[in-house]
Parts: sequence; C-alpha cells; structure tokens
Amino acid sequence: MIVEDSQVKLDFDNTEIAFRNKSDNDLEKAYWLFKMVSNNTLIKVGTPLTNFALNLGLPIQGIIRNTIYKQFCGGESIQGCKRAIEELGQGNVTTILDYSVEGEETEESFDLTCKEILQTVAYAKVNPLIAFCVFKPTGLGRFDLFAKIDGKVPLTTQEKEEFERVHARIDSICKACFDAKIKILIDAEHSWVQDTIDDLAREMMEKYNKENAIVYNTYQLYRHDKLASLKADFAYAQTQNFFLGAKIVRGAYMEIERARAAEKGYPSPIHEDKEGSDQDYNEAIAFCLDHISRVGLMAGTHNEESSKILAQQIIDREISPKNPHIFFAQLLGMSDNLSFNLAGAGFNVAKYMPYGPVKSVMPYLFRRAQENTSVGGQTGRELALIIKEKKRRKQN
Ligand SMILES: Cc1cc2nc3c(=O)[nH]c(=O)nc-3n(C[C@H](O)[C@H](O)[C@H](O)COP(=O)(O)OP(=O)(O)OC[C@H]3O[C@@H](n4cnc5c(N)ncnc54)[C@H](O)[C@@H]3O)c2cc1C
Repeated sequence: MIVEDSQVKLDFDNTEIAFRNKSDNDLEKAYWLFKMVSNNTLIKVGTPLTNFALNLGLPIQGIIRNTIYKQFCGGESIQGCKRAIEELGQGNVTTILDYSVEGEETEESFDLTCKEILQTVAYAKVNPLIAFCVFKPTGLGRFDLFAKIDGKVPLTTQEKEEFERVHARIDSICKACFDAKIKILIDAEHSWVQDTIDDLAREMMEKYNKENAIVYNTYQLYRHDKLASLKADFAYAQTQNFFLGAKIVRGAYMEIERARAAEKGYPSPIHEDKEGSDQDYNEAIAFCLDHISRVGLMAGTHNEESSKILAQQIIDREISPKNPHIFFAQLLGMSDNLSFNLAGAGFNVAKYMPYGPVKSVMPYLFRRAQENTSVGGQTGRELALIIKEKKRRKQN
C-alpha cells in the first residue's frame, strides 16, 4: 500500500484496477507494443522507415492504427474519441482532448487548429467527462515567429500583424473557455520560445482568472529557473488579484535543450541531474498546495514518487481529494496504474487524449516511442505491470 488513511487506500501496484478496462487481447497487444518500443535499435530504424512509407503512400496506416495509435491516441476526430472517453470515465478518469496535429506551418492550418480546439471547448461544455481543454502555442502560430520575439529580434510590419493573429487565436480559445467555464491548459515548449508563451499565458490568466483558475500555464521543473518563475507568477497574481493556474511537469525536451546550449555556447537551462529536477518538481507541488485556495494545480507526471508525495500531502493537509483545484494527469496509454488507482482512491485524475488523422499525429507517436526507449525505467515499469496483470488473470 502506497498511501493508507482511514478514508483513502491507494496502491499503485494494483494491476487489477489499473487494467480493468483492458480485455485480455488489449493487454496482449500492449505487452507486445511496449516490448517493441523498448528496443532502441528498432525505434531508431523504424522511425525514418515509417515516415518514408507514409510519404510514399504505402498502406501502413491500418497497422499503425491498430497498434501504437490505439495505445496512445483516442481517435481521428472528437466523435471518434467517444468510446475511449467513456472507457476512461468508467474508471472515474476524465479526459483532456488534445488535437495533436503537428508540423503544419501555414496561416490556414493555424486557423484550422484554432477552429478544432474551439470545437473541443464546445464538446467539453456538454460532456462532463472532459475536464480540461488544451493547446500547444506553436500549433497556432509559426515557431520561428515565437523564437524571434523571444530573442528580442525586431519584427517586420508583416510579422507584427502575423503575431496579432496568433494573439487573437489564443484569446478566442481562452475566452471561449471562460464563457463555458472550462479550464484550459497552455502547453510548455522549447526554452527559446517559452518567454513569449509565458507572457501570453500571464496575460490570459490576468484577463480570465479573476473568479477562478480557468487558464493554466505550464512550468517545466527540469529548468533550474522555473521554480522561481512559478513563485514570481504567484506573487504577481496576488498583486493583480487573479488565480494562478499551474500545470507542473518536469519537461519533455531535455536532450534538445542540452544539445542546443552546447552547440550555441550558452549555459544549459536544464538541471545538471535528475535529482535537481525531482527536487524542484516536488517543491513546486508543495508550493501550490501551500496556496491552494488561489492556485489551480495540475501535476502532469508519470513519476510514482511525486504522485505519492502529492497524494500524501493532500491527506496530511486535510484537503479533500476532490478539491477542484487539484488534478493529477497522465498521458493516454501510459501509467494507467497511477491514473486508475488514484481515481479509485477518490482523487481527481485526467488523461491527455491525443487525437487527429494518423499521419498528422505521427510526430507525437514517435516522441512517445522515443520517450519509452530513452526514459530510464518507464517502459520496464509498464511491462512489469502488464506481466503482473497477465499472471493475475491466469491464476483467476
Ligand atoms: C499530463 C502531462 C502533460 C504534459 N505536458 C507537457 C508540456 O506541456 N510540456 C513539456 O515539456 N512536457 C510535458 N509533459 C511531459 C513531461 O514534461 C515529462 O517529459 C514526462 O512526463 C516524464 O517526466 P515524469 O515527471 O513523468 O517522470 P520521470 O520519468 O521521473 O522523469 C523523467 C523526466 O525527468 C527529467 N530528467 C531526466 N533525466 C534528467 C537529468 N539527467 N537531468 C535533469 N532532468 C532529468 C526530464 O524532464 C525527463 O523527461 C507532460 C506530461 C504529462 C503526463
């Protein structure tokens, strides 16, 4: 038992609860999938080969749809996610619909993405199983434009107009969420576009978080300056009398950040070691709990220790596990042992559910595959849990 209290019983090793919504066949498929992605060479060779085959129009979409896509994505459209949303709902886990089309860089595609995200807001309004909406800022504007602003490079008149359109898209999504009383997460990205994202997020929070935390910015605690940013943003929110929304993550771009810093000769923004990231992560969570009446907290993590610490602190501080200001969150297809056991013990849990056409979500799927080979222990842990559940089912 991880956490035990007179009211709450939480055990992350309970695989019966973790995999309750997986049939024997689904479990077998997940087993083979995680076995495959744990193979570094296979992922290294498979990634360019899959891209090549997709670009040639070879009929491999069906294979992808039934394997890696099925594990990590909800469906190709909002309606196509309905079943997956209901399955999570049966385990008291809510959904964050994440339109995961990446790599498009035209004004038309940014408008389309904005329109699609507004549709997720409209859907969230009528479906209580959707806890949050989400967007990635560079899905709504050119990455290089964000980078230019971040680097304080003067914009041309045309670029200024372009950025006004990015601003208008972001504002329209945050306003729609405010009107619908739906919370919205702003994902964090690479450090050389993040100041611009942070400025936009702060502005949206100041505008729409007067009565409650609607807009959430993301703090990447693998950066050694982000615990201080979180505290500074909270101090600012207090002076301006608005609620802070804080999604706390470790950060997804460590290798890229380090390589770029080395190449360009500036100090890496990332902690020197994992312990540094872990320590700041747990401190950030505790800081949010210290101020929970004025902070909306989402702990986006697959780390058992951090999830345990948060659960334990909620209990120790006598905060209701159902406090609407606190959510645990994981990605679809990963760490179901955390999601379903936390939800089973009464905590608020949400899962990112990426969706979109198979070809367009491939960058997201490659990242998941790579993360599962490179993140020490995660795949091993997923596999160990699946094997444990397979054994348990055989014995019953
Ligand atoms: C719901 C949710 C939303 C997310 N949203 C975002 C987002 O908006 N932006 C984003 O960037 N990421 C996001 N992520 C991904 C997240 O940042 C992590 O990459 C991922 O969750 C793995 O970290 P972990 O906390 O789950 O646990 P762990 O597996 O314990 O930690 C792995 C992480 O620790 C850090 N780390 C590992 N080794 C070292 C080292 N040697 N030195 C320093 N740090 C190290 C890295 O950040 C690495 O990803 C999200 C994750 C979830 C679950």
